Amino acid sequence: MTEIQPIFDGRAFIDGQRVGAREGQTYAKHSPVDGRLLGDVARCGAADIDAAVAAARAAFADGRWARQAPAARKRVLVRLAELLLQHADELALLETLDMGKPIRYARSVDVASAANCVRWYGEAIDKVYDEIAPTPRTALALITREPLGVVGAIVPWNYPLLMACWKVAPALAAGNSVVLKPSEKSPYSALRLAELALQAGLPPGVLNVVPGFGPEAGSALALHMDVDGIAFTGSTRVGKQIHVMAGQSNLKRAWTELGGKSPNLVFADCPDLERAVQAAVGSVMFNQGESCNAPSRLFVEASIKDAFVERALALLPRYQPADPRQPSTVMGAIVDRIQLDTVLRYIEQGQAEGARLLAGGQAVQPVPGGYYVQPTVFDGVRNDMTIAREEIFGPVLSIIPFTDAAEAVRQANDSIYGLQAAVWTRDLNKAHAVARALRAGTVHVNQYDEDDITVPFGGFRQSGIGRDKSLHALDKYTELKTTWIRLDAPDGL
Ligand code: NAD
Repeated sequence: MTEIQPIFDGRAFIDGQRVGAREGQTYAKHSPVDGRLLGDVARCGAADIDAAVAAARAAFADGRWARQAPAARKRVLVRLAELLLQHADELALLETLDMGKPIRYARSVDVASAANCVRWYGEAIDKVYDEIAPTPRTALALITREPLGVVGAIVPWNYPLLMACWKVAPALAAGNSVVLKPSEKSPYSALRLAELALQAGLPPGVLNVVPGFGPEAGSALALHMDVDGIAFTGSTRVGKQIHVMAGQSNLKRAWTELGGKSPNLVFADCPDLERAVQAAVGSVMFNQGESCNAPSRLFVEASIKDAFVERALALLPRYQPADPRQPSTVMGAIVDRIQLDTVLRYIEQGQAEGARLLAGGQAVQPVPGGYYVQPTVFDGVRNDMTIAREEIFGPVLSIIPFTDAAEAVRQANDSIYGLQAAVWTRDLNKAHAVARALRAGTVHVNQYDEDDITVPFGGFRQSGIGRDKSLHALDKYTELKTTWIRLDAPDGL
């Protein structure tokens, strides 16, 4: 029998070194592309988290990073960004094999955006000033920002490297030490990130990566008494537990970026129907529908609904799943069997509750042994159906016709989530009014693609607390300190 050799190094990265889990446990990591074994990954637990937090604490306490001048931290982060780009092919391949996304996007979106994020926070950090308060002349009040100390970061599998960088880059720029726990479904790019950071000049112990399962490594990090802040991206269900664990332990600062069920409102006076259709379909199918901000509830004004549906269906051949290692592929594999089954279950439930399946709905196997599902479109969806209320996290578009703008906005807001939303109309007054009325962290007008590291990303309501990206993210990784200095002016001054 031919043994398949593990390809990738799945050991943890603690205090500048690759190490196995203390108790020696590993788990087998398979690729969703074709089911092949990628390697054995360290199944870390509380003892490994203890070791990583101790390394991070020691690094923070002796100031090997925190006390470096902002311009010195900048140089390291900019070098790391360059290394990420130099290793773009390797990192993109890791992402594709690990979680199934098309290699073209892994390289042009994930790795490119991750490098840009690291560079941006590096470049920003020596341009951020502190404050002096307008107090009476008898005293000086300095308002300064200090790093939290040890930051725990827990991230999901849908954009593994990018979500890691959204946390790690601002946390490091601000002078913190970090313990990062990647998803058990996509550990490899985070481990490479730590190796490249060391190569870029980040001192050992400042960035530690501890792979493992949520209820083992993740909860040990969230409950740890010596972690000062926890930055989490993932599901709303686990996000709520993160806040509980923060409260149960040491009241560490907890920030959560969670799920979404974003509404996309297309009015009959939309300025460009073809663009609206392409954005509606493309944004839901992108990343196999495994995006927190996928506009999965599509509200279309009834008078243009049939024309809209016809054009949407005509686009679907472009999104048929194929081998994500091929550069031409735009729809890759679903992350694993569990997620594929979840998506198929929602599709069944949609039909059982009376939604009309217009296209897709089946698992397919363009690559033997892999997990793939057809792009799926439902019409006649009601906002109270399960497929309109719960995050499916698969390539499933639900079309909800409307006739009354106020009612459409009411339904759009009738969700536990509030991550993103969109409105399509050529009427400026309507665009403003609807954008104001939508309860979401980001509202798109006549597009759904704009994105930039300079703007905050995060949600209202159960889509989470806090914002990633932009200078606002630095708020999560710093404490405000006020220092009062008494001033006794010499006589005559
Ligand atoms: P998940 O909540 O299952 O897991 C996220 C991370 O939490 C993983 O690393 C996991 O191991 C860990 N975890 C699981 N249980 C834990 C526990 N008990 N204690 C501590 N950690 C635990 O989410 P997922 O399936 O990996 O990711 C998909 C979710 O992420 C979706 O809901 C998506 O909307 C959300 N997401 C949100 C954003 C955003 O910016 N708002 C971005 C990307 C993904």
